[in-house]
Amino acid sequence: MHRFEPCLNFIGGRWREPKTGQYGDNVNPANGEVLGVWARSGPDDLDDAVRAAREAQAAWRLVPAPERAKVLRRVADLLRDRKDEIARTLTMEMGKVIEEARGEVQEAIDMAEYMAGEGRRLFGQTTPSELPDKFAMSVRVPVGVVGIITPWNFPIAIASWKSLPAIVAGNAVVWKPAEETPLTARAFVEVYQEAGLPAGVLNVVFGDGPVVGEAMLHHPGIDVISFTGSTETGRHIASRAGANLKRVSLEMGGKNAITVLADADLDLAVDAILWSAYGTSGQRCTAASRVIVEREAEEALLARLLPRVQALRVGDGLDPAVNVGPVIHEEALAKIDRYVRLGVDEGARLLTGGRRLTEGPLARGFYYAPTVFAGVRPDMRIAQEEIFGPVLCVMAVDSFEEAIRVNNGVRYGLSASIFTRDVNRVFRAMRDLDTGIVYVNAGTTGAEIHLPFGGTKATGNGHRDSGQAALDVFTEWKTVYVDY
Ligand code: NAP
Repeated sequence: MHRFEPCLNFIGGRWREPKTGQYGDNVNPANGEVLGVWARSGPDDLDDAVRAAREAQAAWRLVPAPERAKVLRRVADLLRDRKDEIARTLTMEMGKVIEEARGEVQEAIDMAEYMAGEGRRLFGQTTPSELPDKFAMSVRVPVGVVGIITPWNFPIAIASWKSLPAIVAGNAVVWKPAEETPLTARAFVEVYQEAGLPAGVLNVVFGDGPVVGEAMLHHPGIDVISFTGSTETGRHIASRAGANLKRVSLEMGGKNAITVLADADLDLAVDAILWSAYGTSGQRCTAASRVIVEREAEEALLARLLPRVQALRVGDGLDPAVNVGPVIHEEALAKIDRYVRLGVDEGARLLTGGRRLTEGPLARGFYYAPTVFAGVRPDMRIAQEEIFGPVLCVMAVDSFEEAIRVNNGVRYGLSASIFTRDVNRVFRAMRDLDTGIVYVNAGTTGAEIHLPFGGTKATGNGHRDSGQAALDVFTEWKTVYVDY
């Protein structure tokens, strides 16, 4: 007996069973309980969704953008009304602690308000023509049908970063949410529906990535793929969807570092490290998984950091006293543990954590002890690869220049942070860190929705979520010359 109704597909404004007749379970990582089931759809369901989207987009693109924006404003209001309930669902599905889940829903609210404002702007350009009696301008037009593929770690924030700008710009959407977080996805769709979004403008097809996601990459009715997830999946998407001449926007993995120079405020740095490394159990793309510290400050930093890490309370994220929730599933737990064993084999010093937690009620869920390694060398695999769990690698360096080199010496380029009181080094770091986001005297997480979000190198392919930059993914430029 399931506590929730099955998560059905939402196609052309109606909830529909999958044509496959198949369903998958979604599991609460805090205790292993099955929360409900989701439609394990096939390519035929996707076909229906794309058809509905194409039909709806023909009319939606003609609705004036400020009118489209009104729907987004109602989305913001309805999300605000349902904030606590959606946050609880989110915590139950993917484990992040309830306060963080509320913060995530708030991000979606902020994005709805911000993108509603863009509906009043969607600025184009006019420019003096080179010729007499001629008017020259460019306008933004929608691309058509946008395929959105999202991960489980920010199930509503990332979906909002993509669907809201796509919709306000006049596109229709076909969304494949991550299979771990269908209830959060369904709640978001209900909000859009209640906000009065016309049928077919947003369609959701639940299913496995290699089936439904893969079919999206080849479907001729989809013009854009906007993806957030791992670099491995992103690379595959780029090769397939790119070959089909779709526009592809990729937001992928990270291996973010907090640099602590010897002159830094160490207490401030420790607060930031705790939140950035262990928030969402280290399962954020922007999680700090490396600390690069000037050697003379290493001992003092570790002396402050370790007791704080050991004091973190691990448990079910619904308990407001808990600081660190479970990781997403058994495979993630096994992967984290493999990396920890590898770190030990590579010669790093395990200072705390390094084990699965199974005491009492924790035995039923997927919990890993907050972990710190010291003596990590930049070439070790634990210092290079995305672990996606509560594991921090501390590396000592001898200079600011070496810190920047180590920071940049990974294949990813999402966020980086530096703690120092030296204004010259702040500006050099802003110039020389090769990440999409740089923080000064703050941790590596906590993006604001009105600025571009994304990374360089193996983290992204040049596009950005969030801010006006997101509109570049979801619009075409049309240049118009009028002779008069
Ligand atoms: P993932 O395994 O790559 O999955 C992401 C999405 O892609 C899921 O919906 C998945 O479907 C789908 N997918 C899998 N195979 C596919 C295929 N062949 N074709 C099309 N879609 C396919 O990533 P994840 O484990 O969910 O998320 C964690 C990763 O996301 C980390 O690397 C993290 O750094 C990254 N991330 C990046 C950002 C950013 O903004 N840069 C933000 C958040 C997370 P299923 O539901 O079936 O798995």
